[in-house]
Amino acid sequence: MRTRELQRFKKMLMVLREEIEGEIGRFESNMLHKNRKETTGEVSSFTTHPADMGAETAEYEKAYVLASTENEILSLIDDALARIDKGTYGLCVECGEKIPFERLRAIPYTPYCVDCKEKMENEEYVM
Ligand SMILES: [Zn+2]
Repeated sequence: MRTRELQRFKKMLMVLREEIEGEIGRFESNMLHKNRKETTGEVSSFTTHPADMGAETAEYEKAYVLASTENEILSLIDDALARIDKGTYGLCVECGEKIPFERLRAIPYTPYCVDCKEKMENEEYVM
């Protein structure tokens, strides 16, 4: 890959990284806020209703899953940035084949080509 293209992907990854870090930060401060409210008993009228409780738990779980997915993506981004420095960016970490440009443009932090990703998809969660 040419240096100019690498720099472009690097920039994409850095921007993405900042966005995700911002989102994680928002999630964490939301949770802190929620916990404070719960200890003061402000939301007790909501939590006594079983249906509302379920909805709140679901909401929390959704946010939690989202945040942990974002943390995973964050580490994928860091790996991708490290591969840019090492000069192996754009190559599948599994089989060493070139990852198509369209795929990198869609998911710049992906470590795998489409074939390897599909092979692994059923075994465990991978991006
Ligand atoms: Zn591969």
